[in-house]
Amino acid sequence: MTLEEQNEIIRQILTSVDAICKKYPESYWLKLDKDQSYPTEFVKALTKSGHLSILIPNKYGGAGLNLFCATKILEKIHENGCNAAAAHAQMYTMGAILQYGSNYQKEKWLPKIAKGEIRLQAFGVTEPDAGTDTSSISTTAIKKGSKYIINGKKIWTSRAMHTDLMLLLARTKSKKNILSKTDGLSLFLIDIREAQKQGMTIRSIDTMINHATTEIFFDNLEIENGDLLGKENEGFKQVLNSLNSERILIAAECVGDSKWFIKKAVNYANNRVVFGKKIGENQGVQFPISRSFAETEAARLTVYNAANKYDNGESCGTEANISKFLAAEASWNAANMCLQTHGGFGFAREYHIERKFRETRLYQVAPISTNFILSYIAEHTLGLPRSF
Ligand SMILES: Cc1cc2nc3c(=O)[nH]c(=O)nc-3n(C[C@H](O)[C@H](O)[C@H](O)COP(=O)(O)OP(=O)(O)OC[C@H]3O[C@@H](n4cnc5c(N)ncnc54)[C@H](O)[C@@H]3O)c2cc1C
Repeated sequence: MTLEEQNEIIRQILTSVDAICKKYPESYWLKLDKDQSYPTEFVKALTKSGHLSILIPNKYGGAGLNLFCATKILEKIHENGCNAAAAHAQMYTMGAILQYGSNYQKEKWLPKIAKGEIRLQAFGVTEPDAGTDTSSISTTAIKKGSKYIINGKKIWTSRAMHTDLMLLLARTKSKKNILSKTDGLSLFLIDIREAQKQGMTIRSIDTMINHATTEIFFDNLEIENGDLLGKENEGFKQVLNSLNSERILIAAECVGDSKWFIKKAVNYANNRVVFGKKIGENQGVQFPISRSFAETEAARLTVYNAANKYDNGESCGTEANISKFLAAEASWNAANMCLQTHGGFGFAREYHIERKFRETRLYQVAPISTNFILSYIAEHTLGLPRSF
């Protein structure tokens, strides 16, 4: 595909995404936030339009487009004040499925996901006692004949109550037998509908944002050997591939959030009159908005750069981390700026700022906290000593 053809496809997709988002205005998201409920209709609309399956190859019924196109979709959703967190996992899990899934797994699941018949919206990595130290997770998957038996607990597995499939990282070698810190972990593709009938329990976690996040308990859950994704004991390496795409995609959402905050702030500063003049006439109000705009533009370019490297099959750990870092900083700074621009009204729920402020704060912590991004850059990019 030429660059012009790709640009035209992206233009058409973004027009369609825009039209969908307009049907789900801020009032829709405000109500969901109050009720702590899932944006089912919004996700259905995105699924029906095919936008959530753009990374699935044509032969399985998807659009066969690349991560760059996916970043543009997520950015546009957030720019419109909507929230793609309800649905983005289907995009960032795709790298692992396409790269490590067997032909049988791809043929079994991808056409159904592409058609919107089933969802792959959950990725269970984090555990309460391991935190960011993924290599120390203790949920086990022990091989027994043609099955694996899973025991343990995951925390913060988002959307587990709104998906049919999940990716799960579990330990297939005991810690005393591992050859390196990252050895002995494996990735599984689990049918949650079946798993909940025997050995898997999901509980929602009450959080400061409406994120449908959960904890999951595994009590002798039996899955088939065929549910293993890729090679046994190589799950950590396989997960890393998804982590880069996850960082890039979430950075795109941050850029979209940032643009939304800037638009809100400009609009308010152009209309709110205090001391007989528009507050936007004061440089004390203008400059933070300009600063946010500059930060967002810079972050946006790093997101596209990282996505292009990913799409070209180049190593992109540094670029993915930089884009996530800069975009999360830009959106958080924009959120602060927007709240400040709105003064007291920024705190009124009907203005939507406080809700988006809470939502965008997440990206300083998840899917990876800022410290670990800086630590990645220090060690892997700059050659500083490893600190943990
Ligand atoms: C709403 C929400 C949704 C989430 N969704 C998912 C999901 O779908 N799937 C999933 O697997 N996980 C999910 N997570 C988990 C998320 O990825 C983790 O919360 C995040 O990686 C941080 O892990 P932790 O909370 O255990 O913090 P910890 O690892 O306990 O760290 C706590 C703090 O200490 C700092 N810290 C710890 N060690 C060091 C060090 N050596 N150097 C410097 N700083 C350090 C960290 O930066 C952090 O600020 C979600 C979390 C939230 C809040």
